[in-house]
Amino acid sequence: MRVLVTGGAGFIGSHLCARLMNDGHEVLCLDNFFTGSKNNILALLGNPRFELIRHDITEPILLEVDQIYHLACPASPVHYQYNPVKTIKTSVMGTINMLGLAKRVRAPILLASTSEIYGDPQVHPQPETYWGNVNPIGIRSCYDEGKRVAETLMMDYHRQNGVDIRIVRIFNTFGPRMAEHDGRVVSNFIVQALKGEDITVYGDGSQTRSFCYVSDLVEGLVRMMSCNGFIGPVNLGNPVETTIIEFARRIIALTGSHSQIVYKPLPSDDPQQRQPDITLARTTLGWEPLVPLEAGLKKTVDYFSGLGAAS
Ligand code: NAD
Ligand code: UDP
Repeated sequence: MRVLVTGGAGFIGSHLCARLMNDGHEVLCLDNFFTGSKNNILALLGNPRFELIRHDITEPILLEVDQIYHLACPASPVHYQYNPVKTIKTSVMGTINMLGLAKRVRAPILLASTSEIYGDPQVHPQPETYWGNVNPIGIRSCYDEGKRVAETLMMDYHRQNGVDIRIVRIFNTFGPRMAEHDGRVVSNFIVQALKGEDITVYGDGSQTRSFCYVSDLVEGLVRMMSCNGFIGPVNLGNPVETTIIEFARRIIALTGSHSQIVYKPLPSDDPQQRQPDITLARTTLGWEPLVPLEAGLKKTVDYFSGLGAAS
């Protein structure tokens, strides 16, 4: 099949492209390189089944494809808040353009939505039936509300135009090829630990996240695309929950670092707790994460060490 991956040069997108190539598909990787990089897909570039298209999805594009994985959107708070208007344009206009493409070529389209659509959740863990608690006017809204509108667009193109859709709500995912300076907690803590710099815990570190290794996530995306008749939304994430302070201590222990923990102000609207309820993914996709946090973190530490993050 000829498969389009928007955001294919990013962290998750590059792993998905590699997986799809491995499965024998022809892959069109579309990216504007805002947060993605050619380095992420270097190993695929010479392959005749792989094509790289530099394009911004806020502009329409004509392509002939059989499947669309729609991932293009900056994902780390630092990057999506850099140009918030562009972020929401990417989610809204970009998703309209990709849905228009899906409609024209009659291809199934999978949206990489996010746990952020639950906002600062008052239901814990979060099932797909929860409608969320999102601040519509805060500094995270460009991302959270953008993805909520993207989900609405998916549903309306499905109901109105019969577009074959899949919606996946991705929870915090980590692994090699996360951008070193994108400000997310996993990359920040590992790079700080390897360099012997202070580990910056925001707030008192009592907030929680649940971290999923990227190969598990990619397996979930592929299963969801091949699952006919189930459109989601479905949560994909690892339900093992940890506080950020525990996570900082874990990274220090894993790297044998002498870094000290320091406390910085908690950014506004930072969700206090997050854990996916993955019952639906388990029952409909037969999916659950297989890589333990420790094993995934070791691979990620090796990756950042290899980049020369160690001092
Ligand atoms: P990333 O920033 O590494 O990748 C995003 C990619 O999209 C980059 O390659 C970037 O250059 C590209 N992009 C951004 N705006 C674009 C535009 N207007 N036109 C074309 N390309 C554009 O982020 P990621 O972690 O790989 O996330 C991928 C997707 O998964 C995103 O949609 C994100 O919202 C979603 N997601 C990720 C996580 C996570 O923990 N990583 C969690 C929830 C949801
Ligand atoms: N965080 C932190 N120190 C950092 C970066 C992030 O304590 O250097 C915290 C952040 O405030 C949040 C959690 O770690 O509570 C996860 O942050 P990240 O940006 O990785 O993802 P998100 O908040 O989007 O889940």
